[in-house]
Amino acid sequence: MRYDLVVRSRRTVLPGGTRAAAIAASGGAIAAIEDYGERLDAGQDVDLGDLALLPGLVDTHVHVNEPGRTDWEGFATATRAAAAGGVTTICDMPLNSLPPTVSVAALAEKRAAAAGKCWVDVAFWGGAVPGNSGALPPLHEAGVTGFKCFLADSGVPEFPPLGAAELRSVLGSLAAIDALLIVHAEDQAEIRPASGRDFGLFVASRPPAAERRAIEKVIAAAAATGARAHIVHLSAADCVAMIAGAKAAGIRLTAETCPHYLYFAAEQVPDGATEFKCCPPIRDAANREALWRGLEAGVIDCVVSDHSPCPPELKAPGTGDFGQAWGGIASVQLGLSAVWSVARRRGRTLDDVARWMAAAPAGLARLPAKGRLAVGCDADLVAFDPEESYVVDAARLLHRHPVTPYAGRTLTGRVRQTWLRGTALLGADIGAPEGEPAGRLLIRG
Ligand SMILES: [Zn+2]
Repeated sequence: MRYDLVVRSRRTVLPGGTRAAAIAASGGAIAAIEDYGERLDAGQDVDLGDLALLPGLVDTHVHVNEPGRTDWEGFATATRAAAAGGVTTICDMPLNSLPPTVSVAALAEKRAAAAGKCWVDVAFWGGAVPGNSGALPPLHEAGVTGFKCFLADSGVPEFPPLGAAELRSVLGSLAAIDALLIVHAEDQAEIRPASGRDFGLFVASRPPAAERRAIEKVIAAAAATGARAHIVHLSAADCVAMIAGAKAAGIRLTAETCPHYLYFAAEQVPDGATEFKCCPPIRDAANREALWRGLEAGVIDCVVSDHSPCPPELKAPGTGDFGQAWGGIASVQLGLSAVWSVARRRGRTLDDVARWMAAAPAGLARLPAKGRLAVGCDADLVAFDPEESYVVDAARLLHRHPVTPYAGRTLTGRVRQTWLRGTALLGADIGAPEGEPAGRLLIRG
């Protein structure tokens, strides 16, 4: 058998553990996994030596914003940044684009806007908003990965939150079709208005109780309906025990957190530094430690970016007012390095990182060809140097507006090459995709 591509590494991160191996790809899929030194006939044979070989990451939480707010972020820029960051699949969030993805017609507009522009594969979440319950089954049929809802103001008027009764009714109808609901779990009643440059006041305006109250509602509704629910961007670590309890009771609940909650702590954030604003907020170092423990214990399932960019002028650059600034941190290109920088110091392995950032999100979104180095899966591969450190230069970030709280930070672990279905994406100038975008628009498996 002649393969299209063989990639060898002494540190190949396989589902069963890291070992020396050769990944052989044919027709865009992994056709065989052989010993590192095996003689194989291939069109191209790449030996990474001691560089690690990871499965392409699956980032299930990316706000692309196109169409409608393409000046915030678009498919071309978001997916270029993803490729550079070792992310070979993104799942686009249903809000901040216009129209939001709350009907089959809106999904068709999304897919038309994305067609031909994507450097990595793209799947789509649908949205659950008041009044669109009739659109959920046809959107599910059309292949969305599940449905996103809010329990607090989303920040955009065209994507209102669900009330408690609506939450339960939506979960009931999704249970009937075995579709997943992913929830922005902050309770509006616990959120206070915030203004000014003081980061501590902003954090206090969105307390852990806001997350706790919302997650309680999700757990109760999931228990009552038998539906699958997922908590996006968990920040408040004192909710970890509640999530663990729900899981132990057999409730179909999963949770994710984000690189910024695992990397930054509120004590480090200068007043007026609105590039750190996101909702829920980055909390203190003790909270960060407890989030890590929840992740390491398997209570938190996934780490995904919540890449949510906006033009710099919406970050209130003149005033540094946390009340006025748009909330969102764009990090699809940096998530792997940010998480690995901390994980390695904690004695975690690349196996852990691949589980949190590739296999688990692929399972969440029901994309069975993604997230694992296994025969039959897509040949989505990442060559990663776990020892190389670099200083984040915002000017080299490829998303549309390189505003980032990571600017100037030294991160450890660098993506050296990314393959999408067996095709190398990055040129000699590390970080920038070259050629033509060949990402596909995915349908849930
Ligand atoms: Zn988000």
